[in-house]
Amino acid sequence: MTISHFTSTISPGMTLAGQLHKLNQLDLELQKKQQELNEVENHLRDNMALVAAESKLVSQKEPLEDARRKQKNSEWELEDLQEKARRIDSKLYSGTTKDSKELVNLEKEVKGLKSQIRTREDALLGLMSQVEEIEAEAKTTAEELEQLKREWEQRQATSRPRKSEIETVLAKIKGDRNGLAHQIDSEALNIYERIRLTIGQAVVKVERGRCLGCHVNVPTSQWQKTKAGDLIQCNNCSRILYLE
Ligand SMILES: [Zn+2]
Repeated sequence: MTISHFTSTISPGMTLAGQLHKLNQLDLELQKKQQELNEVENHLRDNMALVAAESKLVSQKEPLEDARRKQKNSEWELEDLQEKARRIDSKLYSGTTKDSKELVNLEKEVKGLKSQIRTREDALLGLMSQVEEIEAEAKTTAEELEQLKREWEQRQATSRPRKSEIETVLAKIKGDRNGLAHQIDSEALNIYERIRLTIGQAVVKVERGRCLGCHVNVPTSQWQKTKAGDLIQCNNCSRILYLE
């Protein structure tokens, strides 16, 4: 089909095909900018690493508290045993106990307690190094988290202005696009929109007699009408043809 030459009052001298070509360019730009905006927004939103570090830190808290509690209990138990041993020791060396059988028993008891103390001390050392290990891990995670937070803030600081920059450009292109669309014959605009929805790029150039959309030759009669700036669709791919 052919929609005849249409010259707008706002963009004088521009043919219908020229207007559609320009509209097509604006739509492609719009698409590109929208894509850029989506990327910046995704980048601004992406806090997966931050959330992961936060939950890692939370998961390290319980084992750390647990290990600290065990260490404390072990320290108290050890103190009790040491106190007990001290008391028996002083009883032994004070000379108040004369009974040899009792003395032997007390010595035996002290020996047993000291052996228990050594075992407890070894266990306590193990617990202490366990606490230190978990503390070091939690410290590393906390540092990572701080680093990620700084990166996050930095990203917000650089990407927010970028976002509003893109939004400004986007609004400008949208304004131009809608202004131009208002000047275009509505029937032609419908054809353009229909092609855009089904094929994508709606307006293509004709180069060396061929449609650049599908690379099929354009008949001479169509080529001439295209050159005049009428709305001509490619017989093969239906795209609107354009000749500069
Ligand atoms: Zn074609």
